[in-house]
Formats: sequence, structure tokens, C-alpha cells
Amino acid sequence: MQFIDQARITVRGGRGGDGIAAFRREKYVPAGGPSGGDGGHGGHVVLQADSNLQTLLDFKYKRLFAADDGRRGGPNKCTGASGRQLVVKVPCGTEARHLTTGILLGDLIEPGQQLTVAFGGRGGLGNAHYLSNRNRAPEKFTEGRDGEEWPLQLELKLLAEVGIIGLPNAGKSTLIAVLSAARPKIADYPFTTLIPNLGVVRRPSGDGTVFADIPGLIAGAAQGAGLGHDFLRHIERTRLLIHLVDAGAEDPVGDLRVVEKELIAYGHGLVDRPRLLVLNKQELASEDQLQRVVAELEAISGRDPLTISAVMGRGLDSLLGRVWSTLGV
Ligand code: GDP
Ligand code: MG
Repeated sequence: MQFIDQARITVRGGRGGDGIAAFRREKYVPAGGPSGGDGGHGGHVVLQADSNLQTLLDFKYKRLFAADDGRRGGPNKCTGASGRQLVVKVPCGTEARHLTTGILLGDLIEPGQQLTVAFGGRGGLGNAHYLSNRNRAPEKFTEGRDGEEWPLQLELKLLAEVGIIGLPNAGKSTLIAVLSAARPKIADYPFTTLIPNLGVVRRPSGDGTVFADIPGLIAGAAQGAGLGHDFLRHIERTRLLIHLVDAGAEDPVGDLRVVEKELIAYGHGLVDRPRLLVLNKQELASEDQLQRVVAELEAISGRDPLTISAVMGRGLDSLLGRVWSTLGV
């Protein structure tokens, strides 16, 4: 199973600055020699792996990355300033491909690793370059070259940091849908009945965190190792679980117990993971019912449950507040 985050961007190196034609002017020297300087080179665009990023979310909003142009040459054989390179930060594990051919340009694995994806254009030559015995006063100069421009496809294999568990119908998929800033593509997943639902939720720092609804948890307890290594990797990577309970169900407390038992049976250290207890569909229960259920859940779980309505959008800010503070992001 792979959750793949994808983004399409365009990278453009800076244009080289033009060379110029100029002549020395000195007192009492009627015709000085050619002195036009060269243009500066255009800046490159460089991708750099950054361990603070987890997703490609930011690339959904900004797509063109262009480095600075080089400056024109000056008189007195002054070379124009080169354009600064543009460093674009990507999460570790990002693969960069040329969009139309699919050719792999590189993998950015280690933090700080860099890959130049668009070279800036060379600066043009000033007329000082064209001085010769035949031509003592050349007017010729050349223009700067355009930088490279490429459409790129960025791909990142995602791992979920927050898992959402709960009985079928508790509202797991709905919750992910209302919280998501983006829905990644799911590829190559062999267990078609157990496709986890995934969303990238924007966090206060601007980057995203991957939330996964893990339907395999329940079946997984029964099937054991049948789930495959990749699926386990996702579950093991989660740093926080949200246990969602349907407040409108006949026996929310019984529902909670069923899932908690599965959690223990499942193993893989899941039961020790930090866990938020969340009562969903709050509007389906009366105030009295809700208070009673909250009190009971608190008594048996020792946790302070949150109440939300995924459909009505209630309580979501406090839920996310708890998530970010638990994750420390
Ligand atoms: P999942 O099986 O846990 O993924 O649950 P779903 O997200 O598919 O939701 C099951 C049903 O509950 C759907 O009909 C949702 O519209 C409904 N549902 C989800 N959240 C709420 C809620 O906050 N209030 C109400 N009234 N219904 C909800
Ligand atoms: Mg679902």
C-alpha cells in the first residue's frame, strides 16, 4: 500500500544578463577601447530536502518557482551580478521527475540533500570580448540566455501520523473529509476492502499532517499478519489515535469497549499510543444523554472525552488543538 502525495510545479532558472557595448572615455583620448562588461549568469533552482516538512501541501498553492535573473554588464568591463539561486524546500523522501517524460531527476532522501532542477542561463558577452587587431572598436555584444524551464512532478510516499479508529459508521471518513486540506492519491493497494481513507490536515505551522482512518484495525485483529508489511508500517508510524464513538448509537459505552479490546488484541504497541476519545454526532443525543455518556466514558477510560459533530462542524477546532498539542507541532 502506498499513499502518494503528488504535486506538479514548474521550475525556471533565471535569465542571463545581457552583455553591453561601451567604450572607455578618458580625458584627451578621443576613442578609448571597448569596455562593455558581460552579463551575470541566471540563478539555478535547487530542491533541498527538509526534515520539518511532511507533505507536499504547500505545492498545491504555489506552482511556479523562478530563480533571479542575472544583471546586465556595466561599463569598464564590469560583469553584471549573477542571479541568486532559488532553494525550494521539499520533504525528505521526495522524488522529482520530469513531468511529461517521467524521467527521474533524483530522490531527496537525507536532510539538506540538494538537487539542481533548472540551470540559470549564461550571461551574454560584452564588446570588450570582441577586441581584435582587425577591429579596434567592436560594437558586438551578445544577449543573455534564457534559463532552463521544466515542468516537474513531485512525489512523496506518505505515512500517517494520526490514526482514526472506531466502529463502522462512527463517522471516521466524514471527519477526515471535513478536516482535510487535500486528499492524496492511493495507489497499488492490494486489500481493496480495506483501503484506508486518508487526508492531509493543515497544521498551524503551515505544513500538513496525514490523518488515516484505519478500517483494517478491526479486521486486522482477526487476520493477523495477513495485512502486509506496508499497512503495519502505517499503523506503527501513527503517533496519536483518535477513537471516535457514535453518540447517537444505542450503547456508546459498549462500542468503546469493543474497539478498546480490538486495540489490545491487535498488538504492535498500538494500545500504548496516545489516544483522544471523541464522541461524534453530538446533535443526535439530548443534552442529558450526552452528559451521562461523557461521564461514563470518562469513568471507564480515565480520559476526558471531547464532543464534536463532524457533519455540523462543531468542536473541530478544540479537537485539532488537542491533536497539535499532543503531537507537539
Ligand atoms: P465510518 O464508517 O466511521 O467511516 O463513518 P462515515 O464517515 O461513513 O459516517 C457514517 C454515517 O454517519 C454517514 O451517514 C455520515 O453522514 C454520518 N455522520 C458522520 N458524522 C456525523 C455527525 O456528526 N452527525 C450526524 N448526524 N451524522 C454523522
Ligand atoms: Mg469509512
